[in-house]
Amino acid sequence: MDFKFTEDEEVFRLEVRQWLKQEIPQKWIELDPGIWEETEESWTLAREFQRKLGQKGWLAPSYPKEYGGLELSHMKRLILAEELAYSRAPLSIEVEVTVNWVAPSIILFGTEKQKKDYVSSVAKGDIILCLGYSEPNAGSDLASLQTRAVEVGDEYVINGQKTWCSYGHLADYCWLAARTDPDASKHEGISIFIVDMKTPGITIRPLINILNRHSFNEVFFDDVRIPKESLVGQKNKGWYQLVIALDFERSSIGYAAANQRLIEELIKYAKETTRSGEPLANDPLIRNELAQLAVENEVARMMAYRIAWMFSKGLHPSYESSMSMVFISEVMRHTANAGMRILGHYGELDRDSKWAVMNARIMRMCLSSLSIGVGGGSNEIQRNIIAMRGLGLPRK
Ligand SMILES: Cc1cc2nc3c(=O)[nH]c(=O)nc-3n(C[C@H](O)[C@H](O)[C@H](O)COP(=O)(O)OP(=O)(O)OC[C@H]3O[C@@H](n4cnc5c(N)ncnc54)[C@H](O)[C@@H]3O)c2cc1C
Repeated sequence: MDFKFTEDEEVFRLEVRQWLKQEIPQKWIELDPGIWEETEESWTLAREFQRKLGQKGWLAPSYPKEYGGLELSHMKRLILAEELAYSRAPLSIEVEVTVNWVAPSIILFGTEKQKKDYVSSVAKGDIILCLGYSEPNAGSDLASLQTRAVEVGDEYVINGQKTWCSYGHLADYCWLAARTDPDASKHEGISIFIVDMKTPGITIRPLINILNRHSFNEVFFDDVRIPKESLVGQKNKGWYQLVIALDFERSSIGYAAANQRLIEELIKYAKETTRSGEPLANDPLIRNELAQLAVENEVARMMAYRIAWMFSKGLHPSYESSMSMVFISEVMRHTANAGMRILGHYGELDRDSKWAVMNARIMRMCLSSLSIGVGGGSNEIQRNIIAMRGLGLPRK
């Protein structure tokens, strides 16, 4: 077992770091949007940056060259993801969804035309897809989804409602799960489609999140007609494609790097701040808290490395992705809560206060980290997956 990166990989990391230093726009640093805090202004900056990364081949570095990738190794992809997350580069979470979850599924299941049309555009940074999975009565039990797609001539006609659709109001396409056979067992009659969000019959209604930002949406489909070629993979076998896409979704390699940066900022704060005449860094409880965070984040990083290693060996992470997701989501929540204890009342101040500390990032993280163990499947569901697929325990 060799835990070192190769010399070539270390050179690549430096190259990425250098490039990011030059390319992250000052305006983005000033806006400083955290997870789920995007505005139209930050979204525009993120889209511009996404295209820049695309031009460099670094948006989708592991994709096959024929679809706009560089065929970089999974370890280099991990390095890139770590550096992007650590540097807080202008990338919305929807870019992550599009590049790392949806497009790899198109590569696996799509037609040649879909790969040429969508995957190449994703690699260039030209398009964003949102996820149309959850419905008012289908979240954890996603196979209960009721949105219908009926084949009529050369088209499918879609009717139904999706909810919690992140950035659906800004996305170009929806990666939609719909029921194509209502008589089959609930896992059997589902298919996946790519739907242009500008298609007539789609209505988008905002849902405001805990950070008071518009990130989610309800999306209504009323007789939405899409060409037959919008079907991805086999009709009625969408559930199996969806499960694989969710495993991509749960790999979450960038979270540990982003959290590392936050822990380093807390350490700096503890060193530079005195309370009752004593540096916070001398307080045994605070030292203990910071040390514990460092241990937990290191474990999270190793779990993410394991996922990258599995990809590099051509293996398909399954319950391992769930383990990584459960652990990092809890480490992030722990970091935010520990940060609040370290900052004391200053932690409660928002960015517009002149007394705000660390640009209120800890408080914002406290709120946004609540969602990390829910989106893409709650931690309870991830634990069920670990129990069944990882430990071989019975379904019930
Ligand atoms: C930030 C964020 C972004 C999201 N973005 C999208 C998106 O872009 N597209 C999309 O389609 N969806 C999205 N979602 C929705 C997300 O996938 C669902 O919220 C999630 O799957 C849970 O479903 P639910 O909210 O319906 O909760 P429910 O399924 O109703 O669950 C409620 C509670 O019961 C628990 N529970 C349910 N079943 C079980 C069980 N079998 N065993 C143990 N506990 C159980 C759950 O863990 C949860 O605590 C997003 C959610 C969040 C928070």
